[in-house]
Amino acid sequence: MQKKILSIILLICALCTTVDTVLAQDCQNCNKVPAKGYAVYSKNGKFTPYSFERHAVGDNDVLIKILYAGICHSDLHHVHSDWREEKYPMVPGHEIAGVVVQVGKNVTKFKVGDYAGVGCLVNSCHKCEYCLNNEEQYCPKRVTTYASKDIYHDNEITQGGYSNNIVVSEDFVIKVPKNADIKKVAPLLCAGITTYSPIKVTQVKKGDKVAVAGFGGLGHMAVKYAVKLGADVTVFDITNDKRVDALKIGAKKYVNINNPKEMQGLDNTYRVIISTIPKKYDPSVYMKMLQENGELAIVGLPATQGSPSINVASFVFIGGHRKVFGSQIGGIAETQEMLDYSVANDIYPDIKMISVHDIDEAYKNVDEGKVKFRYVIDMSTLKDSDFAPRHNSCNCSKCDEK
Ligand code: NDP
Ligand code: ZN
Repeated sequence: MQKKILSIILLICALCTTVDTVLAQDCQNCNKVPAKGYAVYSKNGKFTPYSFERHAVGDNDVLIKILYAGICHSDLHHVHSDWREEKYPMVPGHEIAGVVVQVGKNVTKFKVGDYAGVGCLVNSCHKCEYCLNNEEQYCPKRVTTYASKDIYHDNEITQGGYSNNIVVSEDFVIKVPKNADIKKVAPLLCAGITTYSPIKVTQVKKGDKVAVAGFGGLGHMAVKYAVKLGADVTVFDITNDKRVDALKIGAKKYVNINNPKEMQGLDNTYRVIISTIPKKYDPSVYMKMLQENGELAIVGLPATQGSPSINVASFVFIGGHRKVFGSQIGGIAETQEMLDYSVANDIYPDIKMISVHDIDEAYKNVDEGKVKFRYVIDMSTLKDSDFAPRHNSCNCSKCDEK
């Protein structure tokens, strides 16, 4: 009797596996692409295996097998609903490096086997002034890589790179040369472009005094780009822990802002300051340190609650003829330029490779400032056996009708 029960259980398991394998070759009704990732189900939730579908590979799309995904502090902000109430389950990840495994019939930029990168954007309207100016990141109808309603695909909610694949229009996929150090490419797609762009906009050049506030994933990339251009770079952070690292990658000076002595004598010093600070702070401290006509680029995005505020009068009293501006990632063409520049000049992030099973611990470490400098998830550690076998068909409307 026991043997009989055991063989029935084994048969059910075998059937489930078969169904799963069939789904792995697209839903028969809608050609949606099955995907597996790690998701949180609430703002304080832990990462757990999550099966879902991506839209079908359209004529202009590429299907990318994700090899590596970076963990950006924005992922933590999203997961914790720091900026708005988010919807769950959520698969974060907008620093994606992978290999093309399928292309739509109109695709010209990619062929199967090419390396490819995806950053924070997966679509935009292509028509507005921003899109026409290669600044898709400011398009009012842009779609971001996860936690975004994809108005171009039946309002599906996008899911990010902590997963085994992604389907993206080739216009939003970055070409990654075969000689790139692919394990380190993913963080360039967000941390790289977000710092490269304001450095370019402010035309940093040899001899300029440049400061980087917040020396984490973004900050260390900002230092690398500014040093490469010959700038005299100072790093500001809240502990002494990263002093040696900053000097090692070429910064001339490291300031622990919690040490009042180190903060002395820096007024009117810097032509450009890039703030990557993710938590509450006083921006006027940095405005004060700008030279006349100097520029403070803010890229850090503290949580909405407890967000830094600034006394308007301080723009007049402290900020006279200084400029403060915000900057969001970069457009697709600029991201491609950054990628090519970084690979050609051997500028990569300092990474720590982790398994999908270590994401929760990594989040804790990012929050506590213990990472030097970017966690990258090795997606080959995502195992089918971690996912419950699927019994039902996909969630597409055609499947639902059945
Ligand atoms: P990280 O956590 O890797 O780095 C942040 C760094 O800032 C850490 O070194 C941290 O120190 C330091 N820090 C914290 N508080 C202060 C402070 N008061 N003064 C100076 N330094 C401080 O984060 P990321 O680099 O990944 O991201 C930084 C921010 O940029 C996030 O808010 C993120 O959302 C945002 N971002 C914005 C983008 C844009 O398009 N504008 C794109 C991508 C990210 P410690 O390590 O000791 O805690
Ligand atoms: Zn990011």
